[in-house]
Amino acid sequence: MPESLDLVVTSVATRLMGATAATAVDVSQGVLAELVEYFGVDVSFLRRNDHTLHASVLVAEWPVRPGIPDPDPLAIVYFQDADPVFALAEHQKEPVVFRPEPSTDDYQRTINEGRQIPATSMACVPLLSGEVTSGVLGFVKFGDRDWTEAELNALKAIASLLAQVQARVDAEEQLRYLAEHDDLTGLYNRRALLSHLDARLAEGQPGPVSALFFDLDRLKAINDYLGHTAGDWFIRVLAERLRRGAEGPHLIARLGGDEFVVVPTTPMDADAAEALAHRLQSVLRERVSIDGEMLTRTVSIGVALGVPGRDSTSDLLRRADQAVLTAKGSGGNQVAVFTDDMSMKNEFRNDIELHLQTVIENGALLLHYLPEVDMRTGEIVACEALVRWQHPTRGLLAPDAFIGVAESINMAGELGRWVMRTACAEFAAWRSRGVGTDAVMRINVSPVQLVTDGFVETVAGTMAEFDLARGSVCLEITESVVVQDIETTRITLAGLKAAGVQVAIDDFGTGYSALSQLKSLPVDTLKIDRSFVRELGSDPGDLAIVRAIIALAEAFGLELVAEGVETEAAALTLLRHGCHRAQGFLLSRPIAGAAMESLLAKGRIPVQF
Ligand code: C2E
Ligand code: CA
Ligand code: CA
Repeated sequence: MPESLDLVVTSVATRLMGATAATAVDVSQGVLAELVEYFGVDVSFLRRNDHTLHASVLVAEWPVRPGIPDPDPLAIVYFQDADPVFALAEHQKEPVVFRPEPSTDDYQRTINEGRQIPATSMACVPLLSGEVTSGVLGFVKFGDRDWTEAELNALKAIASLLAQVQARVDAEEQLRYLAEHDDLTGLYNRRALLSHLDARLAEGQPGPVSALFFDLDRLKAINDYLGHTAGDWFIRVLAERLRRGAEGPHLIARLGGDEFVVVPTTPMDADAAEALAHRLQSVLRERVSIDGEMLTRTVSIGVALGVPGRDSTSDLLRRADQAVLTAKGSGGNQVAVFTDDMSMKNEFRNDIELHLQTVIENGALLLHYLPEVDMRTGEIVACEALVRWQHPTRGLLAPDAFIGVAESINMAGELGRWVMRTACAEFAAWRSRGVGTDAVMRINVSPVQLVTDGFVETVAGTMAEFDLARGSVCLEITESVVVQDIETTRITLAGLKAAGVQVAIDDFGTGYSALSQLKSLPVDTLKIDRSFVRELGSDPGDLAIVRAIIALAEAFGLELVAEGVETEAAALTLLRHGCHRAQGFLLSRPIAGAAMESLLAKGRIPVQF
């Protein structure tokens, strides 16, 4: 090979060495430009064969045609309807040179003069990957050009270099495909979803970016009863439905299991995303036939939005997740759109859970006391211990904000023991100073505490430790718990009674306890739920219920306490119908221990009803 040809092959080899999938087209174009220059031709092109499409696909050309029409007729040429030169490229193994035949010189010249199209000559060199023709490298010269054996050999060498690059690019794309797609469905996988969202949520990108989370309801049943093959098939069918039903530029991913995500690739607001979710929901709900069985599965969908530059991918996914949970929580087969309210609840809960673990060691819990008054005299007959949490950042928290969380992380027992000990200790201290000796301390008990082994012994032990007399402590149990497991409750309550502990049924009227059961339980007091007392004096329906409860208490010989007395009208109505004991903001708010002690020392609060 002449030295200069050697040089050009070496130069091409050097250029191609660093080519990757991302740069291959540009690098190839540079190579073509160099070759056009070197061989003194007018046009060159590189095409690859797509043997599945049965077509020749343009990779690069030089010079780039000005004003390429759209669609470009040269971009994809199907072998079937291609002219002979293109058709040849499908299986060509050796270089082919086309030249204006000397015998037709005159003819060509005539055409050229007549139509202003020069006669062309052409060299086509196949790219070979083993036995397969993977593409073609072509050179066009307007007019005649001869190609020497040495030149064609150099082109063969270059074509083989280009074929190698192409194989490398294909392998790289294949790897990327595998890395970004889910095996089972061919949808994108989690990794692809994350990198897509990262790019979409970058500062300055158009927003909002919406994401739809799909979670199949009860897929597990299909796996369990029909086997995993059926379950897999079911998932594939649904993936295909999503793909077809989503119509529009959307990225669709499977996160594994039965979770899918659809991200519209253009900005979409909450209303449009919700509408899309509803549409896809009905597509997915259609029946699927598996082994002759017609199955349907509903799907829960959570919709969330992210604002580029403000929200991160994990923010968006967390919200979508939360929305799905909400959708599932309300019975499944629902679409839920993430709201700020959910976000606050979620953050709040996480924060509470985090801090609650150490709340007892840190001494952040305290008790307030709500006096219970005989409204005829103003005498303070009892006080109820109500737990509070001095939270590091959120201030003084009421129990409703954290008792539920404590129960869900199995801390209710520990918290309950703390309340019990603290209330008893403080009460004993007051009594040792001669205060509140006739009053009762009421302590709220969580449902979980009640069924804990050794509960009765713990209570009895605490009373003994602080030397509290029989009948001076009363535990409050909510009515709904009493009804749930009546047999266990009966045993526990009997144990408490034997230990000299009183029992009150809290929130009475809300839990539908059967009267016959109530009669058989060793209970001392009923506390009429606040909801019936609040509008007493104005709501005749409430009055009817309260009168029934009063009659019931009298019939069974139970003490009666009205909760939540806020108005004089309520107080007067209660007194008129024979309910004397009450607590409520009209009488007193919950107060700190020291204030409760001085109130008990006075013995009464002024009343005049
Ligand atoms: P509860 O046992 O029904 O306690 C009475 C609740 O009603 C208290 O709220 C009290 O502040 C409030 N209240 C009393 N009078 C009025 C009134 O006139 N108007 C209004 N609007 N509210 C009134 P708190 O302290 O927030 O306690 C809420 C619930 O948390 C309690 O309801 C009880 O079920 C639970 N709880 C409180 N302390 C403990 C505890 O130490 N252990 C357990 N397991 N639960 C507790
Ligand atoms: Ca209570
Ligand atoms: Ca209550």
